[in-house]
Amino acid sequence: MNGDCLFCKIVAGTIPASKILEDDDVVVISDINPQAPLHALVIPRRHIATLNALTPGDDALVGAMHRAAAKVARDKGYADRGFRTVFNTNAEAGQTVFHIHLHLLAGRGLSWPPG
Ligand code: 5GP
Ligand code: ZN
Repeated sequence: MNGDCLFCKIVAGTIPASKILEDDDVVVISDINPQAPLHALVIPRRHIATLNALTPGDDALVGAMHRAAAKVARDKGYADRGFRTVFNTNAEAGQTVFHIHLHLLAGRGLSWPPG
């Protein structure tokens, strides 16, 4: 737990969030500023600042994050229509919260390449 980290506080429950799914590894919440009809954030319970800090020991956790995203997409009815999963890393990619999180977006046509 990083005491200055917004997502550590959400995981700990000291800041409220709309939770969609929780398991031993991750908490999935609704994004406060949704960019699509479904915009969820898959947040690992353990604080990792960016993808640059991943180690081989995190491989299972990153897999669990993707499986959680796919489960939420399936539960919400988007598995066949399609969905997008994105990690933003550092400034040029638009990362604003420095605790890794996998964005899950679905429910509208998503252009490619992204902006
Ligand atoms: P990033 O820009 O780091 O890739 O994504 C951070 C995301 O967290 C943004 O989409 C932003 O809307 C969301 N966010 C920021 N603060 C809060 C909050 O307090 N609660 C929730 N649920 N989402 C937040
Ligand atoms: Zn954190």
